[in-house]
Amino acid sequence: MERVGDQARPDRVVVIGAGLSGLAAAHRIEERSRSSRRVVEVQVLEAKDRVGGVIWTDHEDGFTIEGGPDSFITNKPWGLDLCHRLGLDDQLIATDAGHRRSFVVRGGKLAPVPEGFVLMTPHRLAPLLASPILSWRGKLRFLMDLVIPRRDPDDGGEESLASFVRRRLGREALDRLVQPLVAGIYTADPNDLSLRATLPQFLAMESEHRSLILAAWRESRQGGARELLRNASGARYGMFVSLADGMEALPRALARAIEPGTVRTGAAVRRISRDEAAGVWLIEMLDGPPIEADAVVMATEAHVAARLLDAHDAALAHQLRAIPYAGSVIVNIAYRRDQINHPLDGFGAVVPAVEGRSILAVSFLSVKFPGRAPAGSVLMRVFLGGAMNPSALELDDDAIENVVERELGALVGASGPPLFSRIGRHPRSMPQYNLGHMERVAAIRRHLSKYAGLHLAGVAYDGVGIPDCIHAAESTADSLLDALAIAHASAA
Ligand SMILES: Cc1cc2nc3c(=O)[nH]c(=O)nc-3n(C[C@H](O)[C@H](O)[C@H](O)COP(=O)(O)OP(=O)(O)OC[C@H]3O[C@@H](n4cnc5c(N)ncnc54)[C@H](O)[C@@H]3O)c2cc1C
Repeated sequence: MERVGDQARPDRVVVIGAGLSGLAAAHRIEERSRSSRRVVEVQVLEAKDRVGGVIWTDHEDGFTIEGGPDSFITNKPWGLDLCHRLGLDDQLIATDAGHRRSFVVRGGKLAPVPEGFVLMTPHRLAPLLASPILSWRGKLRFLMDLVIPRRDPDDGGEESLASFVRRRLGREALDRLVQPLVAGIYTADPNDLSLRATLPQFLAMESEHRSLILAAWRESRQGGARELLRNASGARYGMFVSLADGMEALPRALARAIEPGTVRTGAAVRRISRDEAAGVWLIEMLDGPPIEADAVVMATEAHVAARLLDAHDAALAHQLRAIPYAGSVIVNIAYRRDQINHPLDGFGAVVPAVEGRSILAVSFLSVKFPGRAPAGSVLMRVFLGGAMNPSALELDDDAIENVVERELGALVGASGPPLFSRIGRHPRSMPQYNLGHMERVAAIRRHLSKYAGLHLAGVAYDGVGIPDCIHAAESTADSLLDALAIAHASAA
């Protein structure tokens, strides 16, 4: 047998899915194997004819159209760190410092999120008390957070985001502020969303400081919120960045950085099985001969991983299927600036479910990142669907366009036909970190640990944002390489 260094043959790793997670895992494996003496051959198999998964960017007549994500947060270091390693530093663009605020729809009008309000904590009370978003009764109930005792952690088990906010800040704060802000991140129903799996920092605030208002005040005094106060209202837009050519530049740079020929597009995997006699994994393709691998990273959606594993381990497939998913629709829509009445002096607006409108949010993309639209025009992104409005995915294109134009007419005074609109559907693409999520993921990992060389990466397990996906994928790659090294050491 041919020897490579001190190996009989290279280790063969197959990564299934060339979304951000699959590509980041493959990149990390190559990065590490380059600096070690072990030779690892990686193949990334992607069903679609392009890489990037839910991340895609189109360029059209001077517009930069983002079909999926439009930015990522920088207070988690892994996104920026990967961009740095890929030589993308000079491509990073910040949000426009002049307009760092967002709006919440109240009674059909756009009201600014109170300055310093971050998801559910006010770093300044005066703007909250002056805001029209909460009634006086709602504000008084919010202030009761100062005196409401801590919840006994042994009382009643895991808490949903809705229950936590209702208990500490009141129903109005949940319905009018927190629900729409959180829906913008998780596309979730707050009654189902696990606070522990998504925003555990707020649980920590309660357990440490009792009151969220006090916790925010102490944080601000210590300077921890200085950055937030400078820029933020609601979502922390001052901390978001994108890439000059659009978000798809990130998966494309990853694909370029890994060995040529590593990524195969149009290569859909049908099934995974184990050849125990040969001690290898068999990756059966929809088209073409099966591929043997010493280790596999499944970086698809959890429900796809379930389908691929059904025949091999139905119990594991069942556990993976238990992670629910929601879908969403993103409509990029452009107007001439003079067709819009509103000053668009912010990054966008979120719509509380209690407003009874058909859209979840609208982001003013060309305000957030100037340069995304030619001078004299505006590019907006409208979000529909999510766990609370799944029927939006059933609408045909005409119906979606009608809804979006009608809503933009009502909310920002858009008039006349748009320059264009582009509809991006993302069915079953957003995992829901519902109550019990952490236990579900722990059970999946326990189950997985009985197999050598079978690994999971992707947005379904350890965090939904781009930096979290990168971190989880790189950690998976690290454990895969460590496991291969241990297996070789014990075989030697
Ligand atoms: C609409 C939307 C907007 C978002 N906006 C933001 C944002 O602004 N900022 C942010 O930080 N995060 C955002 N996110 C989250 C972030 O984009 C995702 O978490 C991340 O890109 C997910 O990457 P992934 O590789 O895990 O999954 P995916 O991108 O879903 O990739 C999975 C890949 O597996 C492939 N695949 C599936 N089946 C097979 C098969 N049988 N064989 C081979 N390949 C297969 C798919 O084609 C796909 O390419 C958003 C997510 C969505 C859905």
